[in-house]
Parts: sequence; structure tokens; C-alpha cells
Amino acid sequence: MEQKLQELKMRLAEAADLDAAAALLTWDQSTYMPPGGALARARQLATLTRLYHERFTDPAVGRLLDDLRPYEESLPYDSDDASLVRVTRREFERMTRIPSDFLGDFYQHSSSAYQAWTQAHKENDFQRMIPFLEKTLELSRRLANFFPGYQHIADPLIDFADYGMKASALRQLFATLRQHLSPLVLAIAAQPPIDDSCLFKRYPEERQLAFGSAVIRRMGYDFDRGRQDKTHHPFTTKFSLGDVRITTRVQENYLGDALFSTIHEAGHAIYEQGIPMAFEGTTLAGGTSSGVHESQSRLFENIVGRSRSFWHYYYPSLQDMFPEQLREVPEEAFYAAINKVTPSFIRTDADEVTYNLHIILRFDLELDLLEGRLEVKDLPRAWHERFDQDLGLVVPDDARGVMQDVHWFGGWIGGVFQGYTLGNLLSAQFLEAALQAHPEIPGEISQGQFGTLHAWLKENIYQHGRKFTEPELVQRVTGEPIRVEPFIQYLHQKYDALYHLNT
Ligand code: ZN
Repeated sequence: MEQKLQELKMRLAEAADLDAAAALLTWDQSTYMPPGGALARARQLATLTRLYHERFTDPAVGRLLDDLRPYEESLPYDSDDASLVRVTRREFERMTRIPSDFLGDFYQHSSSAYQAWTQAHKENDFQRMIPFLEKTLELSRRLANFFPGYQHIADPLIDFADYGMKASALRQLFATLRQHLSPLVLAIAAQPPIDDSCLFKRYPEERQLAFGSAVIRRMGYDFDRGRQDKTHHPFTTKFSLGDVRITTRVQENYLGDALFSTIHEAGHAIYEQGIPMAFEGTTLAGGTSSGVHESQSRLFENIVGRSRSFWHYYYPSLQDMFPEQLREVPEEAFYAAINKVTPSFIRTDADEVTYNLHIILRFDLELDLLEGRLEVKDLPRAWHERFDQDLGLVVPDDARGVMQDVHWFGGWIGGVFQGYTLGNLLSAQFLEAALQAHPEIPGEISQGQFGTLHAWLKENIYQHGRKFTEPELVQRVTGEPIRVEPFIQYLHQKYDALYHLNT
């Protein structure tokens, strides 16, 4: 058995090497590659991705997994070896059930849909996208049907990102959240707006980057096992557990972009850097799901990075860094500015109160499309109605409505959006558990100390890598399933005071 396990690990490590090489090429493509490299890079990535898929789905891997089943069953569920075999089997089945011809057809379709979208989005022409989206919907349904036995057709699609979460449970969870959020958003919108003009002065790039780096270093991002570069759409990537990189972008006339995207990506990266080296090269070496990953980025970006205690410590050094811009701005005014709530059309510009309404709208529409209750041609109408109901805004056009996100136009319909809102819910639920164990955490943060929080996250979340599914991990860490209450409570505590609401 020992020998078979070693062979499995060796094969996984080879596959992981190919995957890491592809990730490095993608990172380079988004940071330093000259435009002339685009054509060859697409081909190189396709080659590496194909080789990775071939390695991982080699029938020999399937035989090893079968042979190792008795060994797996003889071990405790949470042991490293049993988890490695279990998680690898899940991946192996997922990858072998989808025929490669089908995937080839899909990639071809999605790349032409994406091309069409870049133009149609500019011209606000949803009509042109209808045939593309209809085909995407059909292919998404076929993808789900490679995994028969589901309760809801979206379940297999959700499994790709948030394994074990069910559409029916999410629909309920999100409906409860929406009932709480919508009145809060409307109550805030009725208050006088917060003045956030202090964020829109000229902030030189070099100093913005220096400040961001200093913050994330203290939070626990290890620059000896990572680095930061500039890009258009910030992301985190990993080539090994010893090389987890982040990217950011800087707007010199807006302080909020680089700082908070840096903290956000660092939250993702600190998670990956905290995974045990013993998992390197295996299927356990990563964050467990899109929702749990997003909980780590949101925890650092919003709950910590936009908190009073955090700025109590950091604001004086930010003022020192930008004396002309901030000398006359009191700490309280700055804190209010970075937490301003404004209902807006664009998801990626949304604040932490309105953000989830953008996601829930998309999630519900995805389910309606997959269930056949909504036709593609009626999507804009459904979008407008819902937007007006939830955010009190009339969407002026489809470019700022249903066509704003690339997700449906360059990928699947279904299983795409739930992770963002799960991340917000979990960030508050995890922090609640951390505070129960360590009520001193906010006090430490106001001294610029993140050690206790970081150690708790490492002990309870990072050290497991992908051992546990999202529902298993949440149950283990908090003793309960995913709940909306901690997040709602967090929002009320913060925003009732900021906007003088009596809710
Ligand atoms: Zn993220």
C-alpha cells in the first residue's frame, strides 16, 4: 500500500508541475508579456492544459485509486492519506466523466461568445448575444447531466467551485439574506450621503504601493514566498506553496482601489501560504472552495481592513505617507469615507452592504434559466425588474445590466456566482468563532498586531488545505452549518452607527 500511495503521489506531483507551469504562463500573460506574445501563449497554454488533463486522468491513476480504497477505509476520515485518496478520487471522477470532445466544443463556443461579447458590450447590443447565451445554456445543462442523480440541475455545476453546497439550500439562505439586506440598503439610501472626496485626491503610485505592502506584510503575507506585481484585474496565483503571488492595480486619483485590492488578494494568498508543506504537489495543496477562499480575502479586506480598530492603528502612518492629502481629514471622516454605501449598477464597484444583492440576483437568474423558467430573451427584463426591487435603481442599459460581467459570456451558466456571497457570509461566521476563542483580537488589531487572528485561521482553516469540503469545514470550525446571522449582525453593528439608523 505504501508503494501504491507513493506512486499516486508521484503521478499527482507530475500533473501539478504541468498545472503550475500553465499558471506561470498565465501570470506572465497578465503582467509582463508584450502583446506580440498573445497568439503563441494561447497555444502554449492549451498544450500544457491538455498534458495536465492527460496526466491526471491516466487510467493508471484510476487503478491506483481503486487499489487504495481498502487502505483509505482503514484510516480515520480526517487523516492526511485518507483525505488525499478521497479528494483525488473526486477530482478524477469529475475529470473523467466529461468527454474531451464536449469540452473542446465548449471552449470553442465560449471563445467565440467572449469575442462577440467584447463588441456587444461596447455597443449595448444584447440581441446579438441571445444565440450565444442559448447555446451556453444548453451546454451548461449537458455538463450537469454528465453527473446524474442530482437534486437540482445546478448542483453539479455548483460542485465545481463549492463542492457539497446544494442549490435548494443556497436559494433559501440567500433569500433570507436578501430579506435583511434590501431594507437596510433602502434605509441607508434615504440618509444624507457620506462625503468620500478625501479618497479622490492625487495619491502617487509608489507611495500607495509601499503602504499596501507594509500593511499586508504585517497581516502575515510572506514576501519570501511571494511577490506583488501590477495587472488590469487583480488576482492571486500559486506555482507552489513556496511561491504564492498577488497582483494589484493603482489609480493615482483614487486611494481605495490599490489598497483594498492588495489586502483582498493578500487574504487569498495568506490562506495558500498557510497550507502545510507536506501537501505540496498533491490534490490537498490548495484552498478548499471558492466560498472559503473568498471568506479569507473578505475577512482581511472588509472586516479587518475597513474596521475602526485597524484604522486606529494605521491612519497616523497613512497621514504621514500622504500629509498634503490627509492632514486635514480626521480619522472618523476617513473611516466613514472607506465605508460609504451607495447602490450602484456595477457589481465590482459595490460596497459590502449592496454587494450581495448583486450576487443573489445573478444566482437566482441562473437557477431560473437552468430550470427553464426564464428564457434567454427575457433576461434583461428580469434583470431590470429585480434591480429596481432590490436596489431601488432603474438600470439605464444592458451594458450596465445583464452584460456587465464576463462570467456568462465566457464560461458556464450556473455555479458561477454563489462563492462570492458564501465568502461574505463565512467571513463573519468564522470571525465570530475566532472572537469566541480570542476576544482580544480587535484590541490587538488596534495595536497593529495580527498574530492571534493569523494563528487561529491557520489552526482552524489553513492547515486543512482541501481535506474537508466547505460544509464540513464550516461545521468543524463553528459547530454549525453556514448561517446568515453573523454577517447581518456585523453589518448592523457597523452601519447603524455610521448612518444613524434605528433598526
Ligand atoms: Zn477574491
